[in-house]
Amino acid sequence: AKNQGKGRWSSYTPAMDQRGAEQARIAGDLRTALDTGQLHLVYQPIVDMNDGSLYGVEALIRWNHPDRGPIPPVDFIPAAERTGLIVPLGAWILAEACGQAVRWRRELGPAAPETVSVNVSARQLREAGFAAEVAAILRRTGLPARHLTVEVTETAVFDGGAALLELHALKALGVTVALDDFGTGHSSLGLLRTCPVDLLKVDKSFVDTVTHGGEHAVIAAALIDISNGLHLRAVAEGVETAEQAAELRRLGYRYAQGYHYARPLLPEALARRQVPQPAA
Ligand code: C2E
Ligand code: CA
Ligand code: CA
Ligand code: CA
Repeated sequence: AKNQGKGRWSSYTPAMDQRGAEQARIAGDLRTALDTGQLHLVYQPIVDMNDGSLYGVEALIRWNHPDRGPIPPVDFIPAAERTGLIVPLGAWILAEACGQAVRWRRELGPAAPETVSVNVSARQLREAGFAAEVAAILRRTGLPARHLTVEVTETAVFDGGAALLELHALKALGVTVALDDFGTGHSSLGLLRTCPVDLLKVDKSFVDTVTHGGEHAVIAAALIDISNGLHLRAVAEGVETAEQAAELRRLGYRYAQGYHYARPLLPEALARRQVPQPAA
């Protein structure tokens, strides 16, 4: 551990230096990746468990590095946040997802996902004029605001006034606001009163243990009660088994996302699933 006791932090280890250099290289490569089209988005369905219909999709970034192959977002989003590259990268992600949503609406009509959910990092949300930029992207792509959901973490919102201002401006546009990884942040539930949130994404960690019985399901049960009580929608994240889905439904969950339903998909694959297939 870095912390070597009260008030004593080691400032340097060769391993940290290596990690720093690695982060710097990733950040540099990412700039190139953004400029040369190495990045793309995949879309994971969010389903209505009542009837198995599609509620929406979450856009997730993918990086296929020419030398190193696929690099997962957890390995480069933090570097992008630290260097500030997340700001132009995030704008690209938003524009890409909104553009895709418009294409789906054109191609699939009523079978198109009702909402496309985009992850927005704390750094983006703090940027003055973020909501104005979202408004410009919606105008440019022609996507009505009601078809866009922005996913932010509790920590990002808790960050302070600037983030909250941007969220209120997004709400005023008609964009849906979702709290991501809900239950894992170190905010208080009081946040739900001050933050203009429409939807809670209940973290996978609570879904993982929901079938374990006894006290393991208590938090998942409490979170859906809070959500229903406040008239918010709730999505259970990372649902991997039919047993979890059944237990979540029993607790009162309606929306779910996870490998049990679908992995993140390329846009074409999602369109194929949504278009009624001719009988074989
Ligand atoms: P997240 O926003 O919580 O996204 C959900 C993650 O869980 C995704 O990982 C998704 O592929 C994965 N997942 C979905 N269902 C299941 C399941 O049933 N089981 C398991 N084990 N995993 C499941 P991914 O795509 O690797 O993204 C990881 C994180 O990276 C995201 O967590 C998000 O924080 C960040 N991220 C991804 N794309 C973006 C983006 O476009 N912008 C920003 N700012 N962050 C992103
Ligand atoms: Ca998310
Ligand atoms: Ca999440
Ligand atoms: Ca997560």
